[in-house]
Amino acid sequence: MKYIASNLGMPRVGRKRELKFIIEKYWRGEASISDLTSTANEVVTLNNTLQVQAGINPTTVNDFTLYDRMLDMCCLTGLIPSRFNNLNKLSFTDSYFRFARGEGNVAAMEMTKWFDTNYHYIVPEIEETSAPNFNREFFENQVLPDGDRNHQKFSIIGPLTFLTLAKAANGSINKYAIYFELKKTYDELLKYVLSLGYINLQIEEPVLGTDLNDAQVTIFEDFYSNLKTRLDIPTNILLATYFGNVEDNISIVKNIEVDCLHLDIFTDESNIDSLSTLNESYDSISLGVISGRNIWKINLNETIEIINRALHNLNFDTVFIAPTASLQHVPYSLKLEEKMPTEVMNWLAFAEEKILELQVLVGRLNKEISEEDERVKSILTANTMRKSSTLVNDPSVAKRISGLTNEDFERQSEFAIRQKIQRAHFQFPKLPTTTIGSFPQTTEIRQARADFNAGKINEAEYKNFIEKAIIECIEKQEALGIDVLVHGEPERNDMVQYFGELLSGFTFTSFGWVQSYGTRCVKPPVIYGDIKRPNPMTVEWAKFAQSNTNKIMKGMLTGPVTILQWSFVRDDQPRSLTCNQIALAMRDEVKDLEAAGIEVIQIDEAAIREGLPIRKAKQPEYLKWSVDAFRLTAAGVNNQTQIHTHMCYSKFNDVMDSITAMDADVISIECSRSNMKLLNLFKEEKYPNEIGPGVWDIHSPRVPSLEELEQLIQKAVDVIDIRNLWINPDCGLKTRGWPEVEATLSNMIQATKNIRAKI
Ligand code: GLN
Ligand code: ZN
Repeated sequence: MKYIASNLGMPRVGRKRELKFIIEKYWRGEASISDLTSTANEVVTLNNTLQVQAGINPTTVNDFTLYDRMLDMCCLTGLIPSRFNNLNKLSFTDSYFRFARGEGNVAAMEMTKWFDTNYHYIVPEIEETSAPNFNREFFENQVLPDGDRNHQKFSIIGPLTFLTLAKAANGSINKYAIYFELKKTYDELLKYVLSLGYINLQIEEPVLGTDLNDAQVTIFEDFYSNLKTRLDIPTNILLATYFGNVEDNISIVKNIEVDCLHLDIFTDESNIDSLSTLNESYDSISLGVISGRNIWKINLNETIEIINRALHNLNFDTVFIAPTASLQHVPYSLKLEEKMPTEVMNWLAFAEEKILELQVLVGRLNKEISEEDERVKSILTANTMRKSSTLVNDPSVAKRISGLTNEDFERQSEFAIRQKIQRAHFQFPKLPTTTIGSFPQTTEIRQARADFNAGKINEAEYKNFIEKAIIECIEKQEALGIDVLVHGEPERNDMVQYFGELLSGFTFTSFGWVQSYGTRCVKPPVIYGDIKRPNPMTVEWAKFAQSNTNKIMKGMLTGPVTILQWSFVRDDQPRSLTCNQIALAMRDEVKDLEAAGIEVIQIDEAAIREGLPIRKAKQPEYLKWSVDAFRLTAAGVNNQTQIHTHMCYSKFNDVMDSITAMDADVISIECSRSNMKLLNLFKEEKYPNEIGPGVWDIHSPRVPSLEELEQLIQKAVDVIDIRNLWINPDCGLKTRGWPEVEATLSNMIQATKNIRAKI
């Protein structure tokens, strides 16, 4: 068997986010289209060069995009929502950005999370009038590197994944009905690509890792069963799956006209079981063995063992060795990091390092690189050091985890009893009003934090500044007449990073940016060791805030699942265990807040839904441990202490039982965009605890009118028992400006008062 290094895609925002900066400049009118194009070309050229240097052949091209690859597919197949047709004509690039960002009253195309990642794609919309048609002019705008096309692999998202992730514009449309026209369009597109001289294609069908229905199976078989015959030009087709296992979909990938299948055998080894069946019909296979979603250096010996085990008794002519998924989900290069502890840095690999690891791994497999090779030795040393490092293992944490009992996950009494005690104690008005935590992060606040980090102001000055911001925020809330106040979170750079910086076991990168959507990037913390809370993290600020008001001040924390989900997580123990370690640290914080006189404590779980596995069979296990981690965080307090949680999304259908099982006294959810329809689900499922449906879509600066808010509140009152109902915005207000915040909250309070008078 011959092993060849292969790759599915590179990060596309550039080594130092060059693409983000040039696009944003272009949007502001400060850069020209040729500036934009030249930066984009530099990014794809560097990506290609690095792959060539690492011996990857063919390299992957067209993995790049100016905004999103699903949007690229919409443009290439001519599937643009009709609402954009009447706008003035713009250049291709400008209309492309307009689809993503909207213009005036014409809404942007929707964005949603890409499988179980924190990347957001643009959702294709299928309307009655949708007519797929290959748009060759748009193709000319794709940014492709120079070089020999024989040594490049042209990648696109496949038609089944594209259609599966599309949404029908209304309930009477069957989106799959456009498939036959879409197929013609894809054929035309692929033939065009081949006519340009490419001979290698990478067609991505990550939906093969999900449970498929009959309509999807039919489409898959129709498209792929005679694909090469239809294209009628000699070509090598790689069909790539990632994020999940093919399992029973093996029966449909077995007999199709593609040359090679890519499977992740690293994240979860169950794909290994499919290999012998595939060997009956495939001469080559591509194995994902280096995590495309995490940042740890390869464990060289273990990886070789996995590969050997996977291929035991099998005989493929060619085995491609690749990352599990596109490297778009990891940062670009470790070489840029200067501040991280060197010991930890030595355990990591970002995109640039990962493709070099491929080269070493393949060299070892082909026996072209010896054990004595410096690169091999340095990887193996790092592997050994990490296992035994005292930075990783803290016996006191392990001891605490092993001492957990069922009682640690249970509140003192059940909700009905707690609710009685809390009602008698708090005496809130009907429909109590509150907000979700953050208030505008003004330029002054960001500046003060930057100055403090740069040593331009000292700790006392910074503290003084934050205290003033808190007092101002309290005064504004009191003037507005809000019932349960928050301190506004001016001291927090980010809801995860803030806590990560104060917990042990975490470290931070300087340039570890990962694209979240379009030009937005996030810099996830790295969890490398056992987690402990050396000191209280929010207690002083909360106490200070409470001492400045007679109203109830809500304590504000991020939940363990969200901290886990938005970090790079260690791979040497189960996620559930790391999550419980975070939960214990946050539980101590909850108890300290309670002891400091904070009577209402909110634990945000913005990411609990996002972590849901894409295979149904795997969901119960995840939901069990994530709900348990939340309960462990919350359960240490007295009956009278009111625990809130917050979730800013609206997909609750699959997870209602778990939301109930979290047993928060009050939950706030995003609701305004669904026009309160989401509440019907909570009603049908008989959600027993208190609930605050969001009445203000905080994603836009628009100020909803008094009447509009009254209508939304009335809708909520019609569905939910009013004694369980709270009134609040959809989410935190940190990205909004004070004028719209004050105007909207004032309308929200007045609308609440008007409805209170009627009930
Ligand atoms: N408390 C956080 C805030 O208000 C919650 C943010 C979130 O859920 N995304 O900013
Ligand atoms: Zn939120």
